[in-house]
Amino acid sequence: LRQKFDSLSSLQEARTSVTPSCQSISYSNTKPLAVMSGENCYLTSYESAGQHGIEATVYLDTRNNVPSVGHSNPVVVKAIAEQAELVNTNTRYLHPDFVELKQKIIQTLPDVPDDDWQVILTNSGSESNDLALRIAKCNTKSGDRGVVITTDIGYHGHTASLISVSPYKLKSIGETSPRKGTKWLKHPNTYTRGAQYYIEDVEETLKDTVEPVLIFEIGMSVGGVILPPEGYLGHLVNGVKTRGGTVIFDCVQTGCGRLGVGKWWGFEGSGVTPDIVTVGKPLGNGHPVSVVCVKRSVVKNFDEMGMEYFNTFGGNTVSVAAALATVNEMERLKLMENCTRIGGVLKAGFKKFMELHPNTIGDVRGEGLFLGVELIASSERDPGTSETSWVCSKMKDDFRVLTTIDGEHDSVIVVKPPQTFGDIEAEYFLWAFGQVLKKLEASKRYGSFKVGKKTPT
Ligand code: PMP
Repeated sequence: LRQKFDSLSSLQEARTSVTPSCQSISYSNTKPLAVMSGENCYLTSYESAGQHGIEATVYLDTRNNVPSVGHSNPVVVKAIAEQAELVNTNTRYLHPDFVELKQKIIQTLPDVPDDDWQVILTNSGSESNDLALRIAKCNTKSGDRGVVITTDIGYHGHTASLISVSPYKLKSIGETSPRKGTKWLKHPNTYTRGAQYYIEDVEETLKDTVEPVLIFEIGMSVGGVILPPEGYLGHLVNGVKTRGGTVIFDCVQTGCGRLGVGKWWGFEGSGVTPDIVTVGKPLGNGHPVSVVCVKRSVVKNFDEMGMEYFNTFGGNTVSVAAALATVNEMERLKLMENCTRIGGVLKAGFKKFMELHPNTIGDVRGEGLFLGVELIASSERDPGTSETSWVCSKMKDDFRVLTTIDGEHDSVIVVKPPQTFGDIEAEYFLWAFGQVLKKLEASKRYGSFKVGKKTPT
């Protein structure tokens, strides 16, 4: 570690010398972190202290939803190491771990009468969603000429095909209307409008579409923790299906039980089943692995088209070992139960803060360990963009807690920690958050509150 630390300054230089669009370094407008190790819900950052000294700072991590079973979980680390020592090959060979992983994933999916689920492994959420779109388009007569529907704040990945259906990204370059062959649904945020408004928007958007492909995030993350309101999904999916369309649920971020008991994917209980569903980030606890689950009847045309799908690293033996160990850890540690319980503690704490600070907190939403606190600038409920940036920085600098910011106006503090988040972590987090809210109100009252709009994410 010491040796690595000595090269830190050159590392930072190397990072900032890449092309500007790839320089996304967390907390770049306050103090970037040099994270060199992590354990469970904590990350350790190092910095120089004096001529020969190194100072290590431990942060409570509530912004990383990827290390689902905890940073550097020893069981997952061991599985990766042991498999790497034996062999790492591509999907052209058979391996029992793949069969076991596939069965475990299928067990989490709803029964599909007269059909069954196929599981395809890739390396990332983007690869899975890209493949899902290809399969879905093959399932329609219009193919690539058909329309793809997403929400107006959706993010589905970084490939060319997905950027076109990721308004979150398109809006950042001033594209405010859908690209050719795509349509946008209004993201159903019941903080701003009632559910009926969004249900009517579904009707309007689907009108005149034939065999549409819907790609929809069950838990809208960059949208600022938006979960579809009661009845919305049923309406949307039925609308797509009656027009002969195909439904993809993008659970890349919120799958693997983050939303709590009974919600391995998040759509359970809504009465609808997608044709295709994807999950990525949490599946390998940081190791790149992702899946596409698709009904056999839906992948039929893709299978029969005659073009082989081959993905060099997708489903390699080490990735499969990482995913299998992660899923087993989720079961052993009963993490869905933990998400429900600790998520409930955090949410109740946030609601109390909302009562205490009605002119600072406008909304508390989410489920399990996928929670959002919408900050407002005043009693007029205008978005508290600067306030959110301030809170996020103070949480880090004064209390060593890492949070993240999302939402249409960058005014939502998003809490999505490792699913192993415990009572001690929740208690400390709420205490720190309460202190920061008090400081925020005091600094606004006494006129010392000044921050730019740039978020420290
Ligand atoms: N879908 C959603 C909902 C996501 O949040 C992300 C990543 N932020 C992706 C897809 C893309 O996943 P990846 O970065 O692994 O390609």
